Amino acid sequence: MDIFAMPDFDDHELVVFGRDAATGLRSIVAVHSTALGPAAGGCRMWPYASTAEAVTDVLRLSRGMSYKNALAGLPFGGGKAVIIGDSRTAKTPELFEAYGRFIDSLGGRYVTAEDVGTTLSDMQQVARRTRFVSGLGARKGEAGGDPAPKTALGVFLGLKAAARFRLGRSDLEGLRVAVQGVGGVGYHLCRLLAAEGVTLRVADVRPAAVERVRDELGAAAVSVESIMTEDVDVLAPCALGAILNAHTIPLLRARIVAGAANNQLATDEDGRALQLAGVVYAPDYVINAGGIISVAREYLGNATEAQVTAEIQGIPARLTEIFERARREKVPTSAIADTMARERIGRGGTRLVA
Ligand code: NAD
Repeated sequence: MDIFAMPDFDDHELVVFGRDAATGLRSIVAVHSTALGPAAGGCRMWPYASTAEAVTDVLRLSRGMSYKNALAGLPFGGGKAVIIGDSRTAKTPELFEAYGRFIDSLGGRYVTAEDVGTTLSDMQQVARRTRFVSGLGARKGEAGGDPAPKTALGVFLGLKAAARFRLGRSDLEGLRVAVQGVGGVGYHLCRLLAAEGVTLRVADVRPAAVERVRDELGAAAVSVESIMTEDVDVLAPCALGAILNAHTIPLLRARIVAGAANNQLATDEDGRALQLAGVVYAPDYVINAGGIISVAREYLGNATEAQVTAEIQGIPARLTEIFERARREKVPTSAIADTMARERIGRGGTRLVA
């Protein structure tokens, strides 16, 4: 594996492999950029089939965090960590303490938090060994805690901005929205949408998650196979990455894609395919920044819930600027967002795919 030659390497500042034989820890930290501050991003625990797969994932996620933090206006660069292992069977407090020592050895160039497969209580173990960790839970009167509701709020406001831009709608009453994945973020998003009179269709691989939104909010359950192609106004992906690809895009019936999932586009070219299909795509790392805004403010301290909410209110304006620039310049929204982010971190628009 030649890491420097990998397309996803993209001039990462640092890629470090951490091993602790006693606890079985195998971890990789990737720091894409510290131009705007210490690299911040969560730690994903996943049973990767190979080291190469883990490296590819951490590099893609890390670059995404650089862009996300830059466009959210946060004083942080972008980084990410992965722990190779099954989060259902391989977790121990000692493993996360070893991970904490690994993070501490980087001296603050990377600040960790929870992500898919890791939880608040895992981060509390990490915090026994390093102070370069966030997502530990809000202190009384301060911002922080579970980022999922904050992410959902940003997605909700971003979805409204997309509806205004693409459909000329000032409210969401009667709009049909398909939500793929009703876990932490998807559930909270459904609550906000239902309160505005949206007709919801939802799918999840966990029947209990679907039952909750069906029973509480009157959402219609559809199959995981058909959720992407439902006849709706908006598709809100809140589960997996790479779901917008050469197979799915021609089948979409929604005119807007606005959801929380990271890395929704399988390739940069899929941004162009969406634009050609007349679909307005809200770039994932712009619309889903609510969680990192909360985690970042928790880490820095002294911010209130109200300040975090006010910062999240900036997401729709940023998206509208991207939508308008994309229309004016006839460039995909994803490419506009990448260019804006790269300009902010001082890397010019070298990856621009027009
Ligand atoms: P989660 O694990 O709580 O929820 C994801 C849900 O998707 C689960 O209920 C899961 O069963 C479901 N799912 C998995 N595969 C599916 C499939 N094929 N079809 C339908 N549903 C499926 O995760 P979350 O915290 O809600 O995050 C959702 C997405 O948003 C992830 O991609 C995550 O990386 C991204 N994200 C989350 C946050 C946050 O604050 N939690 C912030 C930014 C981005």
